[in-house]
Amino acid sequence: MTEANLKRERLRINEIFHSLQGEADAVGYPTVFVRLTGCPLRCQYCDTEYAFHAGDWHDLDAIVERVSSFGTRHVCVTGGEPLAQPNCLTLLTRLCDAGFEVSLETSGALDIAEVDARVSRVVDVKTPGSREAARNRSENFPLLTQRDQLKFVICSREDYDWSKAYLQEHGLPGRCQVLFSPSYTQMPPATLAEWILADRLQVRFQLQLHKILWGDVPGK
Ligand code: SF4
Repeated sequence: MTEANLKRERLRINEIFHSLQGEADAVGYPTVFVRLTGCPLRCQYCDTEYAFHAGDWHDLDAIVERVSSFGTRHVCVTGGEPLAQPNCLTLLTRLCDAGFEVSLETSGALDIAEVDARVSRVVDVKTPGSREAARNRSENFPLLTQRDQLKFVICSREDYDWSKAYLQEHGLPGRCQVLFSPSYTQMPPATLAEWILADRLQVRFQLQLHKILWGDVPGK
């Protein structure tokens, strides 16, 4: 195999670990997380900056083998921005082929069209409070199905009002599940919950379960 071919079968991985899924539809399930290195965005609240640059190259076969070694059904491929490495698409398909329930956490800034249809995609919509709202890729929205989720991380009342308007502007209610999550340390969770209830907003409120259990630490 040429060096180029070898590169096509590898990914740069920041960490692989076993924890409880803290967010989205599979929340609470024991899950293996595969965190890929690198992200082209710089959200002001980012809690995985350690994944921007650090990581080692691993063969895809070795990654699937390591995931299998944990003996759990759910796998979440995350980052960073996992789709920034094109081989991520191949990994997702290999994990589906191996029989795992696979989810992908992505920033919403990159094309999701080629992601294996068996994968549950959790796609961020970046609010103004993230300082990356200009990166939202609305071309992804028509591709979303009931298997997928759109996630808004709300930092303030301004973010909340913006998100409500954004949902309507892009015809998003009903297309897939919509998650509103308070920005950790920036948005009091109960305040966001009260706003959602007062507005009868048909979105799903969520807290990051892993941070309630363990705090803001890597590898959990
Ligand atoms: S997209 Fe995710 S990993 Fe990238 S900067 Fe934003 S929060 Fe951090």
